[in-house]
Amino acid sequence: MKGMMQHRPLLISSIIEHAAEAHKTGEIVSVRTEGDVHRQTYPQTLKRVYRLANALKGLGIEMGDRVATLAWNGYRHFELYYAISGQGAVCHTINPRLSAEQLIYIVNHAEDKLLFLDATFVPIIEGVKDELPKDLRFVIMTDRAHMPENSFDALCYEELLEDQPESFDWPVFDEDTAAALCYTSGTTGNPKGALYSHRSTLLHALMLGGLVMGQSIPAESKVMPVVPLFHVNAWGLPYASPMLGYSLVMPGPALDGESLFRLMDTEGVYSAWGVPTVWQGLLAEIEKQGRKPEGFADIVVGGSAAPRKMIETFEKMGVHVGHAWGMTEMSPIGTHGNMPKWVQKQPFDRMVDLKAQQGRRAFGVDLKIVDEDGNRLPHDGKAVGELYVRGNTIVSGYFKNDEATAKAIDSEGWFGTGDIASIDDNGILNIQDRSKDLIKSGGEWISSIDLENAAMSHPGVASCAAIAMPHPKWDERPVLVAVAAGTEKPSLDELHQHMLEHFAKWQLPDDVIWAKELPLTATGKVSKLTLRQTYADYKLP
Ligand code: ADP
Repeated sequence: MKGMMQHRPLLISSIIEHAAEAHKTGEIVSVRTEGDVHRQTYPQTLKRVYRLANALKGLGIEMGDRVATLAWNGYRHFELYYAISGQGAVCHTINPRLSAEQLIYIVNHAEDKLLFLDATFVPIIEGVKDELPKDLRFVIMTDRAHMPENSFDALCYEELLEDQPESFDWPVFDEDTAAALCYTSGTTGNPKGALYSHRSTLLHALMLGGLVMGQSIPAESKVMPVVPLFHVNAWGLPYASPMLGYSLVMPGPALDGESLFRLMDTEGVYSAWGVPTVWQGLLAEIEKQGRKPEGFADIVVGGSAAPRKMIETFEKMGVHVGHAWGMTEMSPIGTHGNMPKWVQKQPFDRMVDLKAQQGRRAFGVDLKIVDEDGNRLPHDGKAVGELYVRGNTIVSGYFKNDEATAKAIDSEGWFGTGDIASIDDNGILNIQDRSKDLIKSGGEWISSIDLENAAMSHPGVASCAAIAMPHPKWDERPVLVAVAAGTEKPSLDELHQHMLEHFAKWQLPDDVIWAKELPLTATGKVSKLTLRQTYADYKLP
């Protein structure tokens, strides 16, 4: 017997309609490329979304068409999210930090019809425009007064919106319709596209809102996505925040510690979200100022392992740390760091140890770990294997890429993350490494994340990465590439003494290479691939 409930398709347009009606005072505050700070409420935003939706129609955009964005976090980018997806087209966010080659590949592969860009990115388009689809048209996201010179006949965003009606009849369609497209940064081979649907996006926003934000962020707070709108839909914040009535504070292009501190302080940001590397900058500024930004109480760190020392420092200043794990292919939330009460009650150091792990799975995300033959391993905190995931917010394959799909999805339909992990009997996930970053010495694995955490707990180390170096006898040996915290660099011996508490002697790095800074990937994570290339000729001592 079937239930007797209505069935309404889950559509993205419903979120902004809801926010404009139910969360009238909710705001989007944006640092603009024009240089000022701009603010508008959700009702004002909806009116502009209507105008933009009409303008897109006028430019010939139809259901299923891909419309690309190359932009910082700001209200216009947010408007595009809703106007594009709301009318059944696909919002394709592009990471401006990709190489020219990858950008050309992505735009051609996606067959984008229109590309919206911030003025900052005009030089990028100038450099690649001859290799983009011939019929691709461009819109620069600014007003007439700030239109930069360009050789690609760009339209002006604010002019497009002028004279458009402030109403739009959202079409109603199947909730499985594609809504957004995001390519992984593709450290090896071409980038692969995750194609989100309206249904997956709404379910993800409900999960994120209810399970993560709702538990740790009071109603009507201000939330700051430092994670870019071009990276996995800013982890779903542009959907979940208006759904719950949180205001969004968008930092635009200024992501250094000083700018973030100032913005958070003046706006009273309660919760800030981003990858560990941006928080290093904020922490340096907090130290300089001798205080945290006004009202700052919650931080979500994800995208790569949150260093233990970072968690400790934030928790000590009274900022609750949620350490989350996920992937572009997972919309992205997999696990989150809102820990059960017993964790909060542990002695401080034990609590921080537990928070340095990746937390529990979000409802709706199934996890399994398997051995090399695909046999399931127990969730006992000891067995370590490759992590697979299943759920309504996880890709079933890659956009127009059967080969990559076949590699990623197992015979039972689970997606292989490429991460190596254990899960304990409380359901807490512990990511040991990406399989390609694990260090294999004499047939035994050493976790680079564990080495980095131990080294970074030394006061002389600001940040570091552990990479494998080839070794004639042991196959591979770990080497640390580190950035010093001050002028005094600790010796290798001193680091060994410090790390011995957590490691057997044979697991300790053979050498430490001091660097000025660590190279970053397009998504702002430490690029171990670049490090391996940089030190390809390095000889172990
Ligand atoms: P990419 O950076 O490759 O474009 P993603 O942002 O989707 O793609 O990266 C996902 C990967 O990042 C995960 O598979 C995992 O290896 C790593 N990752 C994400 N969050 C964490 C975390 N909290 N701890 C450890 N690793 C993480």
